[in-house]
Amino acid sequence: MSNYVIIGTGVAGLGAAEAIRKADAAGVITLIGDDPQGFYSRPGLAYYLTGEVGESTLYPYQLQDYKNLNARFLRGTAAQILPQEHLVVLSDGKRIPYDRLLIAIGSSAIRLSVPGAALEGVVKLDHMEDARRIVGMTKRARTAVVVGGGITALELAEGLAARKVKVHLLIRTARYWSNVLDLVESEIVETRLHEEKIITHYQTELAEILGKRGKVAGIRTTGGQELACDLLAYGIGIRPRLNLAQETGITCDRGILADEHLRTNLPDIFTAGDVAQIFDPISGRSVIDSLWGPAREQGRVAGLNMAGQEAVYTKAVPFNVTRLAGLTTTIIGAVGSGLDGDPVTIARGDSETWRDMPDAIIAQSGFDVNHMRLMVANKTIVGAIVMGDQKLSAALQAIIRDRIDITSIREHLIAPSAPIADIVARFWAQVHASRN
Ligand SMILES: Cc1cc2nc3c(=O)[nH]c(=O)nc-3n(C[C@H](O)[C@H](O)[C@H](O)COP(=O)(O)OP(=O)(O)OC[C@H]3O[C@@H](n4cnc5c(N)ncnc54)[C@H](O)[C@@H]3O)c2cc1C
Repeated sequence: MSNYVIIGTGVAGLGAAEAIRKADAAGVITLIGDDPQGFYSRPGLAYYLTGEVGESTLYPYQLQDYKNLNARFLRGTAAQILPQEHLVVLSDGKRIPYDRLLIAIGSSAIRLSVPGAALEGVVKLDHMEDARRIVGMTKRARTAVVVGGGITALELAEGLAARKVKVHLLIRTARYWSNVLDLVESEIVETRLHEEKIITHYQTELAEILGKRGKVAGIRTTGGQELACDLLAYGIGIRPRLNLAQETGITCDRGILADEHLRTNLPDIFTAGDVAQIFDPISGRSVIDSLWGPAREQGRVAGLNMAGQEAVYTKAVPFNVTRLAGLTTTIIGAVGSGLDGDPVTIARGDSETWRDMPDAIIAQSGFDVNHMRLMVANKTIVGAIVMGDQKLSAALQAIIRDRIDITSIREHLIAPSAPIADIVARFWAQVHASRN
C-alpha cells in the first residue's frame, strides 16, 4: 500500500489528494498543513474584508470531508525533508514517512523592508489570520495608507474604505498596474477609486513608517511628504516559499522547478500550486502563476503521477475574473507591456504571462465601464481584457485558449472604431454552432 504525504492544505494540496484517491482507493494519504481549519477560499478574503461575505462561506471544506476522502489531516508545520530516508520532519519533531511527497506550500507576501515595518498596525494580506486582524483594526482605525500597485493592494484599499477608513493608496509607478493594464484601463480604475474617495498618490514610494509608542502614527515618502495614519497595509508582491525545498537540495529558480509531470529533480518528490514553477513544453518556458484554477489543476496532475499514472500538465492560458475598483474584470493571456521597469514579481491572483507584450495589434472599444481590449495576432487572439459587461469573457477565453483561427474577422477587428464586441459575438455564435 502506498503512503502519500502532501505538505499544504491549499487548493493544490487538496486537488492532489482527490486525484490520488480516485487513482488509488487503498493508499494512505496524509495532508500536513499549518492552517488551523485546513482548506479555505483565499480569493474570498477580499470579499470578507469588504464585509460582503462572512467567514463561514470561505470554508466549504470541513474536517469531515477529509474523512470522507479517507485522508488524514495533520495540523503541523513541515520543518525539514530528509529525501534519503523518505521522511518529513515537523517543527514539533514528529517524523512522517512517505513513499511519494507533494510540496504545495504556496507563497507568502514580500515583506516591507523600510524602517518602522515592525510597528503595530502594519499589515499584509496572506491568509485568514491577516484578514481577521485587519477587520479587527478597522474598528478603531481612522486613516490607512496602503502601499502597492496591483490586485492585492487594491483589495486592501477597497476593504478598508468599505469599513469607513480613509485610505491613501501609494503607487510607485505613474499609473495603476501599468505592466498589465493599458492607459485607458488604468484610468477607468483610477476614476472609480476617486469616486470611492480613495486618495491615490502616483510615483510615490514609502521611505519610512513613523511610530508613536510602538504603533503606526504616519509615513514618510521618499519625496519627503508625510501622511498621518494609524494603519499601514501593503501588497507589494509575493514570493514562493522556497526554504524547505532549497534546504532539501531541490532545484529552485523563482519557484520550485518541476517538469510537466510536476516532478522535482529529487525522486518521489513532486510540487504544485503557487510554490511551483512548471516547465511548459509548448512555450518552452517555466513561468509562475498565482491563480486558483492552475493550482488546482497542477495538484490534480501531480496527484495522478504520484499514484503511478503518466499525466502531463498542459499550461492553460492564464485567466482570472477579478474586481478592480468594483468593476468586474477578466484578464486572459498575454496583455501586458513587458516589465515596464517594475522588478516586482507577481501578486495574488496574478500571472507572469500577463506581463508578456505579444506581437499583436490592439483592438479596443468602450472607454468607460464596459471596456474590451483584444491583442490580435496574425491568425489568433492572444490576449484580452474585458471590463464591466462580461457577456463575451467566456467566449474570448475559449477563442484564446483553443487558438481559434480568426482570419475571417481579423480585418474587421482591427479597423478604426470597429464594434469589436458585436464582431466577436457574431463570430462566436458561428463557432459555437459549428461545434455543436
Ligand atoms: C487575498 C487573495 C486574493 C486572491 N485572489 C485571487 C483571484 O482573484 N483569482 C485567483 O485565481 N487567485 C487568487 N488568489 C490566489 C489563490 O488563492 C492561490 O493561487 C491559491 O490559493 C494557490 O494555492 P496553493 O495550494 O498553491 O497555495 P495556498 O493556497 O497558499 O496553500 C498553501 C498552504 O500551505 C501551508 N503551508 C505553508 N508552509 C507550510 C509548511 N512548512 N508546513 C505546512 N503547511 C504549510 C499554508 O499555510 C497554506 O495553507 C488570491 C489569494 C489571496 C491570498
